[in-house]
Amino acid sequence: MLEGLMQDDFPLTLHHMLRRMRSCHPGAEVVTLTPDGSTERVTFGETAERVDRLARALGNLGIGPGDRVGTFAWNNQRHFELYMAIPCVGAVLHTLNIRLFAEQLTYIVNHANDEVIFVDDSLVPLLEKLAPQMPGVRHFVVMGDGDAGDLPRTLRYEDLLEQAGPGAFDYPAVDERQAAALCYTSGTTGNPKGVLYSHRSICLHSTATLMTDALALSRRDRALVVVPMFHANAWGIPHGAALAGTDLIMPDRFLQAESLAALIAAERPTIVGCVPTIFADLLRYAEQHPVDLSSLKNAACGGSAVPRQLMKDFQERHDVRVFQAWGMTETSPMATYSRPDESRGHDDAYWDDRAKQGRPLPWVELRLIGDDEEEVDWDGQSTGEVQVRGPWIAARYFNDDSGDEKFDKGWLRTGDIAAMDPQGSMQITDRAKDVIKSGGEWISSVELENEVMAHPDVVEAAVIAKPDERWAERPLCCVVLREGADISADGLIEHLRPRVAKWWLPDEFAFIAEVPKTSVGKFDKKVLRRQLGEETLPGRVMVGTSSAAPSS
Ligand code: ADP
Repeated sequence: MLEGLMQDDFPLTLHHMLRRMRSCHPGAEVVTLTPDGSTERVTFGETAERVDRLARALGNLGIGPGDRVGTFAWNNQRHFELYMAIPCVGAVLHTLNIRLFAEQLTYIVNHANDEVIFVDDSLVPLLEKLAPQMPGVRHFVVMGDGDAGDLPRTLRYEDLLEQAGPGAFDYPAVDERQAAALCYTSGTTGNPKGVLYSHRSICLHSTATLMTDALALSRRDRALVVVPMFHANAWGIPHGAALAGTDLIMPDRFLQAESLAALIAAERPTIVGCVPTIFADLLRYAEQHPVDLSSLKNAACGGSAVPRQLMKDFQERHDVRVFQAWGMTETSPMATYSRPDESRGHDDAYWDDRAKQGRPLPWVELRLIGDDEEEVDWDGQSTGEVQVRGPWIAARYFNDDSGDEKFDKGWLRTGDIAAMDPQGSMQITDRAKDVIKSGGEWISSVELENEVMAHPDVVEAAVIAKPDERWAERPLCCVVLREGADISADGLIEHLRPRVAKWWLPDEFAFIAEVPKTSVGKFDKKVLRRQLGEETLPGRVMVGTSSAAPSS
């Protein structure tokens, strides 16, 4: 082999991000919303100095290479400082999902062996109840001036920084393959599983977030980070911003549409990342109140399928482009992005393309595997399980081999079912566990939900399989109607008739008050299926038997 003569040993580590914040983007800012509606601002230059202090403080606490350090925090400046300092001292940032059930949280903290947990003062009441079951945690470091409650072994963040003192910090050398961050998936079955990101995987993934056909973070942008920093590294936005010099606008815990709308009007972000439910709330709010969303140019949405109508409404009413991304905790998370060429206009073909989950980012490779274990063609129709590989895709779980079946000789089995079109764009039709097989044919619950949600009276729709003697399964559609709407099951069928195949039409609807959500805000169909099995699913109406929806 004739070896290349390049600096291939230059390590891809977060130190480079920190150096860029200090030297290339000292004027970029981090803006955090506070409870009284005002904002706190620091520059990247000031942040880098605080990161140096924090790095020293971590050393003073005895944190060293490989140690796990937990965060129990909202999206704010201090959390961003921890994002940088912990990996840069060679330790592992373990972001704890504050919305998990108590048993899952204690399991995760103990499984990860977290040495120290940094907690926002507003979240102390949640954590203090669990602290007795976390004997291995040496310290709880409270961020903010609020009460430390009954938390044991507490320290104060700002005291630690004060004691650490100013001045440059001599960061230890870190191997690019060294672990940098840890995030547990919510674990739909069994215990949560830890995804252990390396410096290298974070660096490569966040570089990809800068690409024009992805988030396109740049120095000219201000990114509103709504996607929680405790979920899959907030989609890589904080890291990408450090590289690119993008301003970060942090809503802390104020995620209601009203607060977000005010923050958008005041801070004029150009980019935002959040899940469809929050976008839907924002759209509804914008219908009833005068709001100025005009600064938003690129609104990244994912985590679950993004209804086409939601994207159209944002674009047509507010000139805001909501682009769909797909990924999972195991894929860092961004794996595909859908940003089709607009120059050809906004015809149906354009919207068909927009509504897909999009093309794999560079370095992500994707294949579809059918029931017969063979690869499925990329013909836009045939479906199979999505498998992915690439430098920011998990190879296995942290200290847990119970999920090994997810990894197949260098590929990650995602559990998502999709079709790929000949242009390389992916369309998710279902999660494997949500598929509906009726008379031997698949019905896409995602597509059916999309079409139901296109009805102006429908706020949310979740389709589940209902056991059926003749067809094995039939779709049952759970709908949440807009307040005051009185569309009937038959009315919804009329709406669907021109949009989906006849045999896809649900035989039954359930008019419910709200679709149950998981800890990360996704539709929790498990709960609906359980209610169906236990005959406790409310508001059920067979098609053709009632003219009006029962009040739920
Ligand atoms: P959990 O598995 O606990 O929901 P993740 O956030 O890792 O946690 O979820 C990843 C899953 O979310 C994917 O496997 C996929 O089913 C779903 N998902 C993410 N983005 C999209 C999208 N744009 N469209 C459809 N499904 C999505």
